[in-house]
Amino acid sequence: MSPPAPTKVKTAAVHAGERVEASRAIPLSAPIFMASVSYFDDSDALDGALDGRDYTYTRIKGQNSELLEQAVAALEGTEDCAAFPSGMAALKALLESLELKAGDRVVVPNDGYGASLALVKAFAREKGAELHLRSMTAPQTPGELRALKPRLVMAESVSNPLLSVPDLPALAEAARDAGAVFAVDATFPSPALQRAASFGADLVLQSTTKWLNGHSDAMGGTVSGAKARIAPMKAARVLHGAVLGPFEAWLTLRGVRTLPVRMAAHSAHAARVAERLKASPHVERVLYPGLEEHPQHAVARRMLPHGFGGMLAFELQGAGRAQAFRFLEKVALCKPAPSLGDVTTLVMHAATASARRMTPEERAAAGIRESLIRVSVGLEDPDDVAEDLLQAAAAAL
Ligand SMILES: *Cc1c(COP(=O)(O)O)cnc(C)c1O
Repeated sequence: MSPPAPTKVKTAAVHAGERVEASRAIPLSAPIFMASVSYFDDSDALDGALDGRDYTYTRIKGQNSELLEQAVAALEGTEDCAAFPSGMAALKALLESLELKAGDRVVVPNDGYGASLALVKAFAREKGAELHLRSMTAPQTPGELRALKPRLVMAESVSNPLLSVPDLPALAEAARDAGAVFAVDATFPSPALQRAASFGADLVLQSTTKWLNGHSDAMGGTVSGAKARIAPMKAARVLHGAVLGPFEAWLTLRGVRTLPVRMAAHSAHAARVAERLKASPHVERVLYPGLEEHPQHAVARRMLPHGFGGMLAFELQGAGRAQAFRFLEKVALCKPAPSLGDVTTLVMHAATASARRMTPEERAAAGIRESLIRVSVGLEDPDDVAEDLLQAAAAAL
């Protein structure tokens, strides 16, 4: 029941102005529900809320993270989605939902994000599962998957940092034949450029920290897929407590509103920057799925029908670590920041950043050299971006 209006200062300080008036107004953007706890005038309603039928405690169910989940599921074209406080937390939840047993086999890309590899490696070791690294673009890999019969096959739909583009339907079919769950990290293209589930992924991972947020002001991660695969992750989340905060969810959803138009612009800008870099004597090679000479360009045309994305990588001519580090200090418009998906162009030395958690042998096997610079092309004029990169290259070498 409602208490009488407070008259004493201490009570007023705690209770005055606490109830939102009931209203028929529908806000055009969702309010931020910062309250970590809500109460009910009716005990049966509270009882139901504790079972997750209404909102009473944010670890059980939160309005803003649910709105983001609805949006990401709609973008991915999946039945359901679960949100987490980072991409890594999302990956951990995905792994835990599989209940791996000793002797199970897990296949991961040999040229994927270093932290993901480190997490899966530690997780597999703890469970006594066998870890197998594979090139997801090698023609023999689907056949090997059928023979290996793994429990889980993971792929990055555009790999970090080498921009390799696997043929997802071919891998999905092999995973299905082997009885494996096929999980795809589609952070690089984002669901605006690729709906990985439509190419056969059972589970799709996003680090929403990147393109979905788009402005580098909130971390987050999502796993999307069929209800039956997502439900155990949501149930476990109530207990392990890795929930996405309401403000982060709100910021991410705000970013999602412009995702398709941003990705179209990022793709066009990256294509222009790739062409400009290609023409420079300071650049050994440019990796961009939209370039004819990209090793999987034909596959990329099928996998990325709406644009080749904002990520590219290039090798500085003859550079070692010292020259690469100097390059990072010479960029002016572009920022040497170890992330991606921002409106600002970000550059990064792959070997010491995204591939930092790989061993030197793993980096060598994947083909990640000291001269490799990764670029997340922003929304500045692409010729300004290209000129900044080229002047930095000239100054560094
Ligand atoms: C950044 C990233 C992750 C990890 O996400 P966080 O939000 O940093 O935890 C996973 N996969 C890829 C491809 C990434 O780029």
